Amino acid sequence: MPIYELRCPDGHRFEVIQSFAAPLPECRECGAATAKVPGRCGLLGSARVPPPAAAMPQTWRGTGGADREYVTGLRRTAEARRELEERHPELAGDRRPVLAHEGRYERAPLRAGDPVPERKDRPGITPD
Ligand SMILES: [Zn+2]
Repeated sequence: MPIYELRCPDGHRFEVIQSFAAPLPECRECGAATAKVPGRCGLLGSARVPPPAAAMPQTWRGTGGADREYVTGLRRTAEARRELEERHPELAGDRRPVLAHEGRYERAPLRAGDPVPERKDRPGITPD
């Protein structure tokens, strides 16, 4: 989904991430109707959302053998993503370390801080 910069008649500006067709939200400061600010980030006043870190190449081969230009581009993308996550923390997702991701945790990994569910067949005993 693209990022839009919005502006109200009083000049308040803020960003939203939403689909092209979604109705524009009211101004967060004064509640007035908003309009997209054209320009800055492209033809429609929108910019593409950079991919999350997990979607970036994780291997040497994935960087085209550490191709200098490609790696520089990746670094810029990662920085753009980091800045975006600072402004929109909801994009960052769950950053807690994953403790278990196999078996029954395949769909919902067990993360640090999650309560460890008791085993049904051995009440009072936590899973191995
Ligand atoms: Zn406003």
